[in-house]
Amino acid sequence: MTHSNKPQSLATLAVHGGRDALATDEPVAFPLYQSVNFKQEAGTAAGMRYPRYGNNPNAELVQKRLALLEGAEAGLVLASGQGATACALLALLRSGDHLLASSWIYGGTQQLVTKELPGMGIQCTLVDPMESRGWRKRLRKNTRAIFVESPVNPTARVLDLKPITALARELGLALVVDSTFATPVGFRPIEHGADVVIHSATKFLNGHHDVIAGAVLGTATYIEEVRQKMILWGQAPDPFACWLLERGLKTLDVRVKRATDNAMRVALWCATRPELSAVLYPGLPDHPDHEIALATLDGMGAMLAIVHRDGGDAMTNVVRRLQLIAHAPSLGGVDTLVSEPRFTSHEHLSASERAALGMPDGFLRISVGIEDPDDIIADLDQALRG
Ligand SMILES: *Cc1c(COP(=O)(O)O)cnc(C)c1O
Repeated sequence: MTHSNKPQSLATLAVHGGRDALATDEPVAFPLYQSVNFKQEAGTAAGMRYPRYGNNPNAELVQKRLALLEGAEAGLVLASGQGATACALLALLRSGDHLLASSWIYGGTQQLVTKELPGMGIQCTLVDPMESRGWRKRLRKNTRAIFVESPVNPTARVLDLKPITALARELGLALVVDSTFATPVGFRPIEHGADVVIHSATKFLNGHHDVIAGAVLGTATYIEEVRQKMILWGQAPDPFACWLLERGLKTLDVRVKRATDNAMRVALWCATRPELSAVLYPGLPDHPDHEIALATLDGMGAMLAIVHRDGGDAMTNVVRRLQLIAHAPSLGGVDTLVSEPRFTSHEHLSASERAALGMPDGFLRISVGIEDPDDIIADLDQALRG
C-alpha cells in the first residue's frame, strides 16, 4: 500500500491491500494468471514460480491482503480451510508433542486432531473452554500449542481469549485461533495476543458460495514453515480460486457489516416468536457471552441459531417451507442459508449429547446473508406459521 503514509482502514485494505498505486494503463481488476508455468531466468534458482509453491501472482496478492487485514507479518492461502488447519498444525507440532484444543471446534478439525495427529505421534486433549482452569489442568510437559475457535459453530458462543493468551505467554505455547466466524471485520486475534490465525476462506472471506480455500496468518518465519508443509502435502490453491477470493475480499467490510445488521434484525424478530423456545445470538442481552462479545468483538456477526419449541420434526418442516432461504450446510456468504446440525456437523452424536452441547433437536443454524432483512424475516415468518 503506497497510496499515502496514512494507515489504511480495514475497508480500504479490503479493496486495495497488497497492490501499489496503479500506473497508467494498468488494469484496475487484478488479472488472472491462469498459468502453471512462468518463464524463468537461466542459470539460477531465483524467481521460480509454480502454483503449488503458493507464489502464483494471484496467490501472492491475496496473501498480502489477508496479512494486512489481520495485522499479521505474513499469510498463506491454501486449498481449503481444512488444508489450512492441517498444514498450520503440522508446522507447529512434531512427533512427541502435545496439543490442547477446545472441545468446541469445527468437526473436521476435531477429527484431524483426535484421529489423524495421534497416528503421527502427536497427542491431543480436548478442553471444555468454559471450565475454569481447564487448560491449566490438562497441561503436559510436552504441550506445545493451544487451538481454539471463536465465535463457535453453531452455538455462536464467544470465548474470552484473555486468560488463554496469558497462559500461552506464560508457558511459551503457540496460540492458534480459527477466526472463520469473526472475520477480520469482527475480531483480529493477533491484536489480542494470538500467534496464528486460521480461516476457512470458503466462508465470509470469499463470501459468494463459489470458492473453496483456506488461509493461515502469522510471523514470516512460521508462514515459511507452513508453506513447506503446503508444498509437500499438496495443499496449494488454484490460481482462479485466489482470483475469486481476492475479488470477494473487496466487499468483505460491507458484506459483513450488512449481514451483521441483518442478523440483529432477524434475532430481535425471532425473539418475539411463540414457536421458538430460544434464540442464540451474541448481540442479544440474554446470550451467555453478550458481555464478552461487547467487550471484544467489532460487531456481533452474521451467525445465529433458533430452537423450535416443538422439536426436530417441527423445525424440519419449517425448513421444508422456506423459499428464499436455502437449506445448505455451509455459511458466510451473501445468500442466507440454514442447516440443522443434527444432520450435518453433529450427526455422529446422540440427541442428548447434542442437547448437552447446547443444540437440542429443533435447533437451526442461520447464516444471515445480505438480502433485504424484511424479505429474510418474511420467509421465516411464512415458514414458521406453516
Ligand atoms: C468450514 C470451516 C472449516 C473448514 O473449512 P473448509 O474450507 O470447508 O475446508 C474450518 N473451520 C470452521 C470454523 C469452518 O466453518
